[in-house]
Amino acid sequence: MKPIVAVVGRPNVGKSTLVNRLARTQDAIVHESRGVTRDRSYHDADWNGRDFILVDTGGIEPLKSDDVFSASIRDQALAAAEEADVVLFVVDGSVGVTEEDESVARMLKRVKKPLFLLVNKLDNPDREQERLWEFYSLGLGDPRPISAHHGHGTGDLLDEVVAALPDEQEDEEPYPEALGVAIIGRPNAGKSSLFNKILGSDRSIVSNVAGTTRDAIDTYVERGGARYRLVDTAGIRKKSTVYENVEYYSMVRGLRAIDRADVALLVVDSSIGMTEQDQKVANLAIERGCALVILLNKWDLLADDEARAKVMETVDRRMTLAPWARYLRISALTGRSVEKIWDLVDKAAATRAQKLTTSALNKFLTELREFGHTVVDGKRRLRMHYVTQTGVNPPTFTFFVNHPDLVDPTYRRYIENRMREKFDFAGTPIRLKFQRKNDGQKAGE
Ligand code: GDP
Ligand code: GDP
Repeated sequence: MKPIVAVVGRPNVGKSTLVNRLARTQDAIVHESRGVTRDRSYHDADWNGRDFILVDTGGIEPLKSDDVFSASIRDQALAAAEEADVVLFVVDGSVGVTEEDESVARMLKRVKKPLFLLVNKLDNPDREQERLWEFYSLGLGDPRPISAHHGHGTGDLLDEVVAALPDEQEDEEPYPEALGVAIIGRPNAGKSSLFNKILGSDRSIVSNVAGTTRDAIDTYVERGGARYRLVDTAGIRKKSTVYENVEYYSMVRGLRAIDRADVALLVVDSSIGMTEQDQKVANLAIERGCALVILLNKWDLLADDEARAKVMETVDRRMTLAPWARYLRISALTGRSVEKIWDLVDKAAATRAQKLTTSALNKFLTELREFGHTVVDGKRRLRMHYVTQTGVNPPTFTFFVNHPDLVDPTYRRYIENRMREKFDFAGTPIRLKFQRKNDGQKAGE
């Protein structure tokens, strides 16, 4: 499980500037090839060979108005700190200590996590000492001067952050072939109810394995000869009391679960409909290569056809970029259609693992050329030389073309749609890469 480094602090202190600098462009490149709209709050980062996830809590607030619960910056910071392995608390050196900083600091003191107090916007190293002293009053140890903007102080910071991460330790998996399934969704959507329903109705639980990596507890279930690993984080099984309803939890826990899963089950509260937050979580799953099954839970609460149609409208609206996701109307309460989940999970996992033959891909490319739609920029015209599948889980295809830079998001989507018409990718994201190949060059060069 990748460790999480959370960046907290009040608005405008420079959190996202810092996160962008620490995650750097490599993050952007990785995601570009996946062609999905990404959530800017979560970034893959690595330093000296250690991978971790950087979370910009600034991107998560303010909470959206369609949320029943709202939380102050302090509460968000607390939720973030509790879920994180290392906390970076950013303050603004050009402003000095504010009341809000003090309030966040008091709270952070109670969370026993490795913490770095970063005094940002100290752009002039010669003068930084004079601005630093007042931040000792926060009682969080030595403040460190940085300039997120110019980058000074950030290399040393990364060295120390990485040193403070927990030891890398992978749990041994009793059934490595088991398919990883994560149950994700907003607070109150019905994740725990579903989890319990699955476990309660099922006599084929193979084992509960208490993970040594902090809060992960996986449950292995066997059905019709196939094994599934229900990826759990404390979020489902053991509810934390105080800040359970802070949206942040469901995001970070969802993220952790997604990282260890093949198929994500997104539980949506049908009495509310699919929300922007649901859409974000769905995007996280897609971005990270999970197959996606949307479970429209609490279907029993919908009184009439009109109410049911309204829910489906929200799904259509929120999933325009991933209309291929599978969905199922369920009730974790009554058990309606809960049994059918496995069939969808299997199908999505199968499309995600499939390998197309070269001849099928060549045929696809021929048809694509015959159709004639391509990108032209002045004298340059995009030409596709060949395509090959370069990965599975999710299926990844590399197109060798003359001018990769001509491929814009619209054309990328066009190709993806064509592929989805031709092949069955229901339930799974696919990834398209475009690489340069000069005429006369051979495959693999
Ligand atoms: P956030 O709300 O905490 O994420 O803050 P942002 O990263 O959006 O930064 C807020 C403003 O501070 C922006 O205008 C940044 O350009 C500016 N800023 C961020 N870091 C620095 C820095 O190191 N020096 C200076 N002078 N400005 C900075
Ligand atoms: P979680 O926060 O996502 O784990 O959600 P819970 O499983 O704790 O469910 C939140 C509330 O919704 C609880 O009061 C459940 O009893 C209720 N609930 C869950 N699933 C259903 C359902 O299918 N129908 C109805 N009517 N209520 C449900």
